Amino acid sequence: MAIKDNLRETLEEIESARKHSLTGEEVKLIAVSKTHSPEEIKEAIECGITDIGENKVQELQGKMEILQDSVKYHMIGNLQSNKVKYIYDKVELIHSLDRKSLLKEINKRAKNDDIIVNCLLEINIAKEESKGGMHYNEVEKFIETCLNYDNVKINGLMTVAPNTEDEAFLRECFRKMFKLKEVINNKNYDKNKIEMKYLSMGMSQDFKIAIEEGSNMVRVGTKIFGKRDYK
Ligand SMILES: *Cc1c(COP(=O)(O)O)cnc(C)c1O
Repeated sequence: MAIKDNLRETLEEIESARKHSLTGEEVKLIAVSKTHSPEEIKEAIECGITDIGENKVQELQGKMEILQDSVKYHMIGNLQSNKVKYIYDKVELIHSLDRKSLLKEINKRAKNDDIIVNCLLEINIAKEESKGGMHYNEVEKFIETCLNYDNVKINGLMTVAPNTEDEAFLRECFRKMFKLKEVINNKNYDKNKIEMKYLSMGMSQDFKIAIEEGSNMVRVGTKIFGKRDYK
């Protein structure tokens, strides 16, 4: 199937899930283009895609060089501190802030340029060993730490849910994320520093459930671009 048809179907499914969602909020779609070519991304842009997600710095850089400002870029993968310098000032949002060393490095670079870098806190909601992200009970303390770093703004939370067929468990994970967002919201932090605007959760397999449970930003790859061919 062509990207155009995949995208239309994805948008329809997003809209119908939104109608049954906890919040009824608009949902932002990030098209995850990892392993796919700039030509395929251009096709998606022509069909209306405004934001793409990549999980590797080098691949992201390569695509930025070609696509320039025809699209906005999201860093969604595990980010090594020594690679922050290549992307911090070029991305719309870093979804994978999950540790203090990374916070410090992003802040240092941003401060140097007198800019604010927008980030989401990545949460490892099911405590899976293979995954990045901080644990649920570390979040509030981490946010207090973030308040000391003036050039990083926290715009919400992100998670990669467990890969499971167990819908009840998935819902429980998403629900925990939504509640966490609400708890933080209710603390009324300075909105210039901590603003729980986005809940980035939901991928091809689970975005409908994620939206129903309160996600307002989904990261969809396979359903838009087709299967990934890792060479
Ligand atoms: C690859 C990836 C996605 C998209 O996954 P699909 O199953 O292809 O939709 C979303 N989020 C992250 C962090 C990813 O690495």
